[in-house]
Amino acid sequence: MATERTLSIIKPDATRRNLTGKVNSKFEAAGLRIVAQKRLRLTRAQAEAFYEVHRSRPFFDSLCTFMTSGPVVVQVLEGDNAVAKNREVMGATDPAKAAPGTVRKELAESIEANSVHGSDSLDNAAKEIAFFFAETEIVR
Ligand code: AMP
Repeated sequence: MATERTLSIIKPDATRRNLTGKVNSKFEAAGLRIVAQKRLRLTRAQAEAFYEVHRSRPFFDSLCTFMTSGPVVVQVLEGDNAVAKNREVMGATDPAKAAPGTVRKELAESIEANSVHGSDSLDNAAKEIAFFFAETEIVR
């Protein structure tokens, strides 16, 4: 299996409820290693740039407002098939549809306030990691 890196964001609904450690323990239990991590408050411009692909969606404005409503924790996760594995650990976008045991099933508040983001492909993972981290900040 290929070792991959993926970008994860613990969203404001989860940091507000002090759930960073609970989310991280799920990543680690699944064999994902947190090789970079920082807590920050996204600016509106950063949120809009990060979610640029969703600009035409009806939820874009609300999503950017939510993502700037409190601190986030941005992370690089590394491991075998990390992109797909992280998406398994997160569960479906809509917590009502997420499988038992997933982060979103157990912790998410709504389809928007769904506690975590994870890259959806290896290509996007590389772009999203570079959005937040310099290579020197990622330490395996
Ligand atoms: P993704 O790029 O797949 O992470 O999707 C962007 C984010 O937008 C999701 O993780 C949700 O936070 C939010 N989102 C996606 N679909 C909806 C929706 N139908 N209504 C509200 N928010 C949504």
